[in-house]
Amino acid sequence: MATKNYVAELNEYAQRNRLKLKYEYLGSDGPDHNKVFSQKAIIDGKDYPKGVGKTKKDAKVKAAENALRCLLDGKCQDLTENAAEASTSAETDINFICWLNEYGQRNRLTIKPMETTRPGPNNAIPWCSFMVGEKEYPAVSGKTAREAKEEAAKLVYDIINGNKTTDEDAKDKNVGNGQNEMPTVSRFTSEFEPLEHLGKGAFGSVYKVKDKQLKIEYAVKIGCYKEKSLREVRTLSDLFHRNIVRYYTFWMQDTGYDESCGPTTKFLYIQMELCAKNTLRDWIDEKNKESVQNLKRREESLRIAQEIVCGVEYIHSRNHIHRDLKPANIMFGVEGEVKIGDFGLVTSDDDDEERTVCKGTPSYMAPEQRKYDRKVDMFALGLIFFELLWKLSTGSERAKIWPDVRRQRFPEEFSVTFTKEKQIINSLLSEKPEDRPDASAVKAELEEWTQIFNSHKASHQENQTV
Ligand code: ATP
Ligand code: MG
Repeated sequence: MATKNYVAELNEYAQRNRLKLKYEYLGSDGPDHNKVFSQKAIIDGKDYPKGVGKTKKDAKVKAAENALRCLLDGKCQDLTENAAEASTSAETDINFICWLNEYGQRNRLTIKPMETTRPGPNNAIPWCSFMVGEKEYPAVSGKTAREAKEEAAKLVYDIINGNKTTDEDAKDKNVGNGQNEMPTVSRFTSEFEPLEHLGKGAFGSVYKVKDKQLKIEYAVKIGCYKEKSLREVRTLSDLFHRNIVRYYTFWMQDTGYDESCGPTTKFLYIQMELCAKNTLRDWIDEKNKESVQNLKRREESLRIAQEIVCGVEYIHSRNHIHRDLKPANIMFGVEGEVKIGDFGLVTSDDDDEERTVCKGTPSYMAPEQRKYDRKVDMFALGLIFFELLWKLSTGSERAKIWPDVRRQRFPEEFSVTFTKEKQIINSLLSEKPEDRPDASAVKAELEEWTQIFNSHKASHQENQTV
């Protein structure tokens, strides 16, 4: 049974009523093996009872549920009391200096600590105050300079969050407390109706949505914005091909849908063509459930393999390397055509920085070596082709065979049944990248073989019907 998506529901509620919704992470509690996390929802500056859970996400879901209870059912009283005492204890876990730096980044305000000493009874006492943008917050003392700085940051935190006020603060509500900000309207929920959660990966979540005006369905991938995540967008916008998932647009916004990214991080939304829910992973798993290895699977596998290689040939022709080709990243379009997706790990053929990180020093690399980098995709293709064709019924069977296949050792029966395919796969799995054929060569070979295979099949069927 699926749990109710309270986070999405609360988002919708806030959208509808034009309320500004944010979550605040309140820290964790307990020993490492049994930690609990707390978060609370803040709606239009008002705190709602905190949610506690085994993960940050659980805590958020719980916080959303609590807020909805208050807003919709009026059952707030009993929740609030526990929340008040628990949230003060959780606050001791917050690193206020980090929080303040992030607050500054988020609001484009310079954060400047002003550290001084003032004479004390025995020796000089460290004091610190913070300048946040133009505004100076009160100075606080500490036993050490570090402690003074932490206390000063905590004071800023308390003032900004309305836990404490200073006279000056009361006069000048414009700075820092965020109450005068315009409510954020989520482009995602105002333009689209989310219909279904399609998948989750390392980057974030993918939703099936409907454009409210156009009444057309799309897929929107939502993740935390990092500079590197723009790489996926950049690549997708450079690619237009029948076998590559089609990209429409991207945007960034402050609010997520049901993920959290950390206080300063923006969310990245990528709007794409909607593919079928079942990926090639599901297709293979379904085929593996069938009782016998049959001719139909071989025929379909050849068609799919051909389409994948067409997509890869195109990706390489645009000087990109996918680097994460696997059945879960291969989808199907409305006509059952292959759609390669997930360009999250893509790199450009001449991306020096990437190379330095992964593969040593590019400056010493021979020019001819570069053209072999794309061969990582060809190796992955070899493995995918094998998996397309060969029935692996159980996980343990897979675990046993897989390392052998990676070293070009195939099950005896496979080599006998799929002589031609084995030859292609074998070359793709060559240890040395330069020995692996490129996508165009594989495409040509597969085309030729498919023709032969289909004509064999046709004559075989004729013989049977006669
Ligand atoms: P990974 O962990 O593989 O890097 P990721 O976070 O980069 O994942 P994707 O692989 O792009 O995300 O998407 C995750 C899943 O969401 C896919 O396996 C697929 O099931 C689904 N999905 C992604 N894009 C689409 C789409 N355009 N249409 C339909 N479903 C999609
Ligand atoms: Mg993926």
